[in-house]
Amino acid sequence: MAEDRIVQVVWFKRDLRIHDHQPLQQAAAHGPVLPVFAIEPEQWQTPDSALRHWQFAADGLIDLAEALAGLDLPLCCWQGSVLALLDALKACYGDFALHSHQETGNAWSHARDDAVAAWCQTNAVSWHQSRQHGVIRGLTQRQQWETQWETLMAAATCPAPANAEPASGWEAFHHVSIASLPALTLGYDQTPCTQRQPGGRQAGRGLWRSFVQHRGRRYRGSLSNPLLAWEFGSRLSPHLAWGTLSLREVVQSLRRQRQKHQHDPRWSASLRAFTSRLYWHCHFIQKLESQPDMEYRTLHPALRGLRERDPKHPHLLAWQQGQTGVPLVDACMRSLIATGWLNFRMRAMLISFATFGLGLHWREPALHLARLFTDYEPGIHYPQIQMQSGATGTNALRVYNPLKQAEDNDPKGDFIAHWVPELAALPLEWRRKPWALPTSLRQHFGFQPGSDYPLPHDFEREARHWKDCLYQLRRTPQARQQSQALLGKLASQSSAPGRKRSKRRTVSSRQLTLFVDGTPASDS
Ligand SMILES: Cc1cc2nc3c(=O)[nH]c(=O)nc-3n(C[C@H](O)[C@H](O)[C@H](O)COP(=O)(O)OP(=O)(O)OC[C@H]3O[C@@H](n4cnc5c(N)ncnc54)[C@H](O)[C@@H]3O)c2cc1C
Repeated sequence: MAEDRIVQVVWFKRDLRIHDHQPLQQAAAHGPVLPVFAIEPEQWQTPDSALRHWQFAADGLIDLAEALAGLDLPLCCWQGSVLALLDALKACYGDFALHSHQETGNAWSHARDDAVAAWCQTNAVSWHQSRQHGVIRGLTQRQQWETQWETLMAAATCPAPANAEPASGWEAFHHVSIASLPALTLGYDQTPCTQRQPGGRQAGRGLWRSFVQHRGRRYRGSLSNPLLAWEFGSRLSPHLAWGTLSLREVVQSLRRQRQKHQHDPRWSASLRAFTSRLYWHCHFIQKLESQPDMEYRTLHPALRGLRERDPKHPHLLAWQQGQTGVPLVDACMRSLIATGWLNFRMRAMLISFATFGLGLHWREPALHLARLFTDYEPGIHYPQIQMQSGATGTNALRVYNPLKQAEDNDPKGDFIAHWVPELAALPLEWRRKPWALPTSLRQHFGFQPGSDYPLPHDFEREARHWKDCLYQLRRTPQARQQSQALLGKLASQSSAPGRKRSKRRTVSSRQLTLFVDGTPASDS
């Protein structure tokens, strides 16, 4: 092969591992290897970026550098744009080959990758991109999508290369020492995350072990409760987002565990439910890959131009700060600020409350949540945000009532008491709706609604208004046609693995419900 023996650059992106890393394996097979991670200032100035994302990545880079050292390879931490890196590589080596994983990221990374592709074409450099998720570039319809997902997940994982040779001159591309990475203050948002999950492969493997050895047995039945999901959910999300674990290695390990636990009904049900989530991971990312403007534009044409967009609106500011006066909503936001994580149901409730209960457009709340989620994954985030705010026009309208959610998923009020301590002394009934505390009891409890804790907006009336409005807009013949086109392009064409098949519903027969409390919303 003509490319043999020229320098093989491995560009690490959101794939911070050496195991099951096809670009690294291929590079090592063809010549001296130069592994590099680019710290791109522009990337860390985008409005969806945050210090907590960087800190999690830095943990992963430290583990990655150690793992590469075990292969006698360095990890170069380049500071600057990737285009500048490519120019410098060209100046140093003349010819080289570039290897990386394919990425479905935000609009900025999409444009950056387009620019890299153009640079490679102009400079006759081969850029080999491997798939690490079941996402297909340029896909226009979903027929056979599940089959390719299964093929990729069932294929053998790539072992770390045994005899890799480092490229000489790598020092010129190493700007930031590994030890100083955690101290960098990168990210548009600098809110401290005092209880952030630790990153890195060791931490990821430890989580997975504890999940399959004991925590996972209670997975099913714990997911909707924010305290139980914290303990019995896998908590793998930031590791999958930063690739410290590969999705395929998790899927394959999971299959072995399902065999092992097949005679225990509780384990079986839990691991079956977990299997569907790993499939949804790629199913959602595929949506953003196929429709990149979902990041900033309402998906359904009939539903555009609705709701409040002012980035300084008092409702938005109160929601962002956990000061809406609705205890479960505020508890979720405050817990998210401190920990960087929240379970699915509470994420859905937060965005549902912002868009239906407060009448806000989804975009600013989406950015705020993106900055707070350590596991921010654009391909899951924006499709979920649009779905939960009723912007897709193709999913059942789910509006989560925070009072019902508190009854069902924080039955003893412990979560609220922990995160909204100003309500901790109130009996359960008033802890969930402190505005209704009778005047006769206010002195006794030393609590004055409106001064000790905010009074809420009339969120139930507001939600009814927006639900009716969206319902009407979705019903026109033109809107229905548009819905069918969107379903053909973005919806799953069959049931997820691990999930029982249900009869497919057409758009027109879908029931529109207010304040439903069903299973986690999915669109299959
Ligand atoms: C508005 C909103 C925004 C979200 N944004 C993100 C995000 O930025 N990054 C992210 O990883 N997840 C996101 N999710 C999905 C989900 O809430 C998290 O993946 C999950 O809570 C992470 O916890 P876990 O790892 O313990 O999940 P588990 O239940 O243990 O699931 C295992 C893995 O499956 C995937 N997964 C789980 N649920 C879903 C789902 N509903 N859709 C797609 N994939 C799923 C994740 O990769 C997760 O790590 C979002 C959900 C909502 C409603």
